[in-house]
Order: sequence, then structure tokens, then C-alpha cells
Amino acid sequence: MDQAALSRLQQHLAAGGQLSEVLPELLPGQDADNPALGLLSQLLAQRQEQLAAHLQEADSPEFSQAEELERERLLEAQAQQRAEELQRAEARRERMLRLRERFEDMNAELRWSRALLDELALALGACPTCWGEESHCRLCRGRGHPGFLTPDPETFARLVAPALNRQPSPLSPLAAAGPIPPERTMP
Ligand SMILES: [Zn+2]
Repeated sequence: MDQAALSRLQQHLAAGGQLSEVLPELLPGQDADNPALGLLSQLLAQRQEQLAAHLQEADSPEFSQAEELERERLLEAQAQQRAEELQRAEARRERMLRLRERFEDMNAELRWSRALLDELALALGACPTCWGEESHCRLCRGRGHPGFLTPDPETFARLVAPALNRQPSPLSPLAAAGPIPPERTMP
């Protein structure tokens, strides 16, 4: 059979035709009674029937229903997975928010502590950078213990004098320290 005849045969079969119908045209001199061709024709017809049965099965309501169920199950699993991913992302976002809040709180507390420590250093005449604890300090070279500088009177009066005033035998208060209220002395 030549190539042209073969493609005619394919077209004929693809269009739903039977082999026996085209045999005389394709193979002049032979007919469908030829036993070998008859067997081939029979085999092809069987194959055609099997394919048709497969297609019908795929179209059957049971098959479609099972396929539909499987698709629904898959979609449900995907939706469940997406929901879990969203939940995890939300939990991560909340953890980050809490961490950020905590970080901001700590940062504010640190700024407040530093400002207070600076003020206290000013009140006590100490080096605000190292309080005399750091020999490499560029401000005081380790000499900045309290009293290294003249205490700032206003800050001393506000932060230190009230504590001095509570002493049982009061130390000589610096200029800004006020008198000791009698009812406020410690036992
Ligand atoms: Zn210092």
C-alpha cells in the first residue's frame, strides 16, 4: 500500500468508516473475502468497538460522578491548604506585630533611662558617657566619677537634694538643697 492510499485509509477510518468499504479501492485485485484482510478488518473493528466502549464509559454518569467527586475532593484539599497557609501567615504577622510593639516599648524605655542617667550625671557632676568607669572615654579619660565636674544646681536640687533631706543626719546640702521638713525625716 502506498503512502497516499494509507492516508486515505486513515481519513476513512477516522471519519467512522469500515475497512471493508475501502479495501477494493485501496487494494485493486483483492477483496474483503481475502482471509488475511478479513481478519485484519475484524481486528480493526474490535479495536474500534473497544475505543468506543472506553469513550462511552468516560461519558457515563457514574464515571462523571466519580470524576466530579475526585475533583471536588482535590479542590477542597487545596482550599484547606490555602486556609492553613493563610492562618500561618496571620499568626506570623501577629507575632511580628507583638515583637515590634515590644521592641518599640523597650526602645522608649531605653531612651527614657538614658535621658534620666544623663540628667543624674549632670546633677552629680559625673561624666554622662562613662561615669568615670572607662579609661578610654573621650570625654573624661576615666576621671569622670561623680564630683568630677561642678554639679548643675537646678538638676541637683530636683534629683539629689530631696534624697539628702531624708538622711537621719543630713549631709551638708549643696546650694540648691532646701531645709529638712521635720515630719519627713527617716526613723
Ligand atoms: Zn567618661
